[in-house]
Amino acid sequence: MAKTRLLSKSKYMNGLQCPRYLWFLFNDKAEVPDVGASTQHIFDEGHRVGDLAQTLFPHGLKVDTDDFGLNLDQTKKLVLERRTLFEPGFLTDGIYSRLDILDPVGKDEWDIVEVKSSTKVKDENIHDISFQRRCCERSGLKIRNCHLVHINNQYIRHGNVEPGGLFTLEDVTDKVIDASTGIEDRIREMFKVILQPEPPSVTIGSRCSEPYDCPVKSCWGGLPEYNVFQLYRGGKKCAELYARGVQSLQAIPEDYNLNAQQRIQRTCAISRQPYFNAKAIDRFLSTLKYPLYYMDFETISLVIPLYDGTRPYQRMPFQFSLHVVAAPGQAPVHYSYLAEGDGDPRPQFLAELREHLGVAGSIVTYNGAFEKGVLTELGEAFLGFQDWVAATNVRVVDLLIPFREFSYYHPEQKGSASIKHVLPALTGRGYEGLDIAKGDDASLAFLQILSGEISADAMLKIREDLLKYCSLDTEAMILIIARLTSLALGAP
Ligand code: SF4
Repeated sequence: MAKTRLLSKSKYMNGLQCPRYLWFLFNDKAEVPDVGASTQHIFDEGHRVGDLAQTLFPHGLKVDTDDFGLNLDQTKKLVLERRTLFEPGFLTDGIYSRLDILDPVGKDEWDIVEVKSSTKVKDENIHDISFQRRCCERSGLKIRNCHLVHINNQYIRHGNVEPGGLFTLEDVTDKVIDASTGIEDRIREMFKVILQPEPPSVTIGSRCSEPYDCPVKSCWGGLPEYNVFQLYRGGKKCAELYARGVQSLQAIPEDYNLNAQQRIQRTCAISRQPYFNAKAIDRFLSTLKYPLYYMDFETISLVIPLYDGTRPYQRMPFQFSLHVVAAPGQAPVHYSYLAEGDGDPRPQFLAELREHLGVAGSIVTYNGAFEKGVLTELGEAFLGFQDWVAATNVRVVDLLIPFREFSYYHPEQKGSASIKHVLPALTGRGYEGLDIAKGDDASLAFLQILSGEISADAMLKIREDLLKYCSLDTEAMILIIARLTSLALGAP
């Protein structure tokens, strides 16, 4: 079989998600864009986690070559020595898998150990291992048990990271055996798909984002501007309507079971006019008490905790932007903090935030659960701040609420209540022209600073971009409140 027709573990997983995706991977790679920086970061973290997990097996030996053929040859030899192997590769009859860890047991059996950065066992992990198991068995190995090593999110770092605490090892043998039912048929079917001249036609829907976002975008082309996949919290309704041939929001039948928000979407798509609930917006605006503190945080969240006293995936705030408007009509005063990247940023973050937040007045956030959650975690970590955090959280007002409840909705939001969609739809301003324009990019940019592997100029540029981005998030809230206020006063 030609080398290009090898079905690897990752392609098997892609094929399970969608046969069309699998076809593109083999026959038209141009349809499959390279992974973005966020996905690459997840891969890189996965490699770091994999390396650390290997220390759980101190006598293991890495099949230390990325050369495909050499790895297979070395694996064959080392399997005969019955050593614990890291990253051995197996290829038989066109299916190929490189395992994380293969551990010899008893006289002639082996355990498979797969390492994941997730905090629990997921269905896709089981299918992944079932493919590995099949590869090993086809190569003549007797597999006894299968284990998944995943992250223990209750682990708290003290000093050096302890792999025994960071990782949890779960026996998933029974689940893997269940998932292996029919695997030969699935593999055979996938080879048929790969070899067919045209991509299979497949209906778009939840498969395009479950369990992973599919990078193929062309399948989504041709949908109307306002389409059923934009239904707010549409869930199964989107696919159901699409399957019935209803593509545009305007074409949804009157008697179709939509909730209140979805009905507003349909009406706005037909009229192309925004919806405005004056009473609800008035009610929201009346909760604001001056001075107003417009506040936004940026955080990083790493699998392997960086600092003492922190857990895997804990949100670590490294930046805030705060615009303070003392009274109606007054110009905002801006404060910000951006960590230097040379140590735990939290104490300084907290100290500066407390200095500027005053003791009274509403703190306006967008999706306040996030900022409140981060503050609560900080209060738990730094006991002297507990009372202050409790008093601060009481002052938080969430600007997301009127948009989540559709007290205001503009058809150009396309079903999203995110500030990135609300700001341009409501005010005409946007995030264009920024080199950092979303939270994920901000986290990645700060990680570059932390890495210490960039030049001083690059670091300066990243810091400037971060400051601009976070500042725009709080400016955006000022603009949104101003626009809602003028609409409430009867402006067109
Ligand atoms: S976008 Fe959806 S339908 Fe198209 S290849 Fe990806 S998963 Fe399949």
